[in-house]
Amino acid sequence: MNANLFSRLFDDLDDVERLAIETTDGTRISYGELIARAGRMANLLVARGVKIGDRVAAQTEKSVEALVLYLAVVRAGAVYLPLNTAYTLHELDYFITDAEPSLVVCDPSKAEGIKAIAAKVSAHVETLGADGQGSLTEAAAKASSEFATVVRADDDLAAILYTSGTTGRSKGAMLTHDNLASNSLSLVGYWRFTDKDVLIHALPIYHTHGLFVASNVTLFARASMIFLNKFDPDLIIKLMARATVLMGVPTFYTRLLQSEALTKQATAHMRLFISGSAPLLADTHREWAARTGHAVLERYGMTETNMNTSNPYDGDRVPGAVGLALPGVSVRVTDPETGTELPRDQIGMIEVKGPNVFKGYWRMPEKTKSEFRDDGFFITGDLGKIDSKGYVHILGRGKDLVITGGFNVYPKEIESEIDAIKGVVESAVIGVPHADFGEGVTAVVVRDKGASVDEAAVLRALDGQIAKFKMPKKVIFVDDLPRNTMGKVQKNVLRDTYAEIYRK
Ligand code: AMP
Repeated sequence: MNANLFSRLFDDLDDVERLAIETTDGTRISYGELIARAGRMANLLVARGVKIGDRVAAQTEKSVEALVLYLAVVRAGAVYLPLNTAYTLHELDYFITDAEPSLVVCDPSKAEGIKAIAAKVSAHVETLGADGQGSLTEAAAKASSEFATVVRADDDLAAILYTSGTTGRSKGAMLTHDNLASNSLSLVGYWRFTDKDVLIHALPIYHTHGLFVASNVTLFARASMIFLNKFDPDLIIKLMARATVLMGVPTFYTRLLQSEALTKQATAHMRLFISGSAPLLADTHREWAARTGHAVLERYGMTETNMNTSNPYDGDRVPGAVGLALPGVSVRVTDPETGTELPRDQIGMIEVKGPNVFKGYWRMPEKTKSEFRDDGFFITGDLGKIDSKGYVHILGRGKDLVITGGFNVYPKEIESEIDAIKGVVESAVIGVPHADFGEGVTAVVVRDKGASVDEAAVLRALDGQIAKFKMPKKVIFVDDLPRNTMGKVQKNVLRDTYAEIYRK
């Protein structure tokens, strides 16, 4: 059997007429058409000199053609390397010189700047704009749609995704054909996807969530997706009348809740709301259930591992928990220093092992070695615990751990207490340099509009709930927490902003 992800996706397709993708301008693409377009594009890639194992870097706006490019790269046995559309030329220089692609595809507006960078690694440059037009599609249109999918083994690379890397250099996570195929197939079963499903696809496709979880799962299930270029709450609520599944980051859910149009009736046709990539507040979970009658299904994954855990389809979807280990995935919690496995309910480092876990960091053998245990478990960098029912709870990134006066403080524990205070929308707890304590626990809080909760009220509410050493030394109020495009709170930005507050 050809282990190429493309073959695993489409070799047994029985109905080429079936709808795969629709866009808001009325374009409808069948599975047969998608495969034909991927064939044309794959022929063009080969004609441009892309060889098996070569990297093809793409910084393109979301479009059907951009998805076709991904499928074609995989089909041709090359390695797809999507890049966040927000990256500047300065940042792209690092990715392109590090990955040494043989082809770079970019928006026409960036072609000049990118050509100068690509020249350093002798890469060819083609363009693809937000409207799907550019030198790439123009040339592909003339190519043959027949293409023999290149034979690949399970362990061969299909993609490299650079981690968002809030500290240090961004690392290229090497993902194999089997990493991607096995994880998507597992999710199809776990989330009960069928060919009747219609996914509202409003995520970017340069990240694991929108590219692999959303697109691969839909295509494996022979379901269809409605491709949206941006998050538009009114449109999404309208589409719920004929869609069945929404995959989102937590900010999707908080923003949808702000609309009065979100009702039980508006969501009656939907069968599943999935959230991931950042923590979904327990409050948001409850508010969503009260308003729509649906319990959001939260799952946990990362670029390096694909998806690790998910709340169950049928059992309890627990607010604030990321669910149970997926079939075939082993999850354990260890002492971060010694690596010894900890008993249930104890907080430590989350480690995972399974066919979903990546092959290593591109050209960083030492870094790869230091992030795997000898028995093959990957050290995720997330701190958390597994409860008595097997549900995993995430308590923050290891680097967000606050160490004050020699004691460890897990931000999530304090944040959950603060979030429960009336008048508080959400909070972020960070460690800020402090002469006496090393780090001072600092709470950054967003209030409801018009709420009068102040520092004294927050401290009063925490008093007696948490140990004295965990008490924030300062409570700062802000209008919004800084977030990246995947909805993750950027604690590094907060730490920089407030770095001086304990200096006299
Ligand atoms: P990324 O590689 O950009 O997908 O980021 C992965 C990180 O996002 C994980 O290591 C977690 O820290 C965080 N993450 C993903 N899903 C969740 C979730 N459901 N709850 C809390 N954190 C999450």
